[in-house]
Amino acid sequence: MKFHFLTIFPDMIQSYLDEAMLKRAAEKKLVAFDVKNIRDYTLDKHKKVDERPYGGGPGMVMTPEPILRAHAKLKMKGKKTKVVMLSPQGKLFNNVMAAKWAKSYSDIVFICGRYEGVDDRVRKILKAEEVSIGDFVLTGGELPALVMTDAICRQIKGVLGDHASVEESRIASPRVFTRPEVLEFPKSTKTVKGKKHKVPPVLVSGDHKKIEEWRKSQQKEEKI
Ligand code: SAM
Repeated sequence: MKFHFLTIFPDMIQSYLDEAMLKRAAEKKLVAFDVKNIRDYTLDKHKKVDERPYGGGPGMVMTPEPILRAHAKLKMKGKKTKVVMLSPQGKLFNNVMAAKWAKSYSDIVFICGRYEGVDDRVRKILKAEEVSIGDFVLTGGELPALVMTDAICRQIKGVLGDHASVEESRIASPRVFTRPEVLEFPKSTKTVKGKKHKVPPVLVSGDHKKIEEWRKSQQKEEKI
């Protein structure tokens, strides 16, 4: 799967993609990333990407042409592509969408807005779906695009190595522990002995059926 990012802050995106799981997934050719600077598709010497809102109103709006030119360069013909317009008013993204998109598309294009948003003709012309990562307003679409990319990549076989880690039906792993007791640690002026912070007794019972039941009781389920 190839992820395309149309943004005016390419370094913001690239720095996350150049680390950890996503970097390794790209090295293993399980995924590919393509970060385009919208400013490279402007025609004026100031590389202007925004204008005052037509009809008045506060702030600035991203103009459609540079984004449409950047999108045209992606050569999406014949590909199974999903175009995502990041927006706080969009459909709320979740793990079900992540799993579905991972299976359904070869390419995902993220249009990362800034300022007051993106000229709505972009959404219409590119038949983009508005998607939100939560009921709050951020300063730009780059973080949401990365959040979604991370969640989608986790659903792609081989990215996590042990595919069993992927929550096909569970949203979050059960509460996890590393050792029977926490080692002692300093807490303000005194040292706290780890004895009080033991793991739940069921985990040291050796009863695997009970442990599995306990783990299930800790999971938040969502059918994918
Ligand atoms: N009034 C604008 C709107 O409703 O789109 C707010 C624009 S916001 C300040 C700038 C950009 O950040 C948006 O165009 C969008 O790309 C991104 N953004 C902000 N909050 C978001 C959210 N919760 N989910 C996804 N993208 C968001």
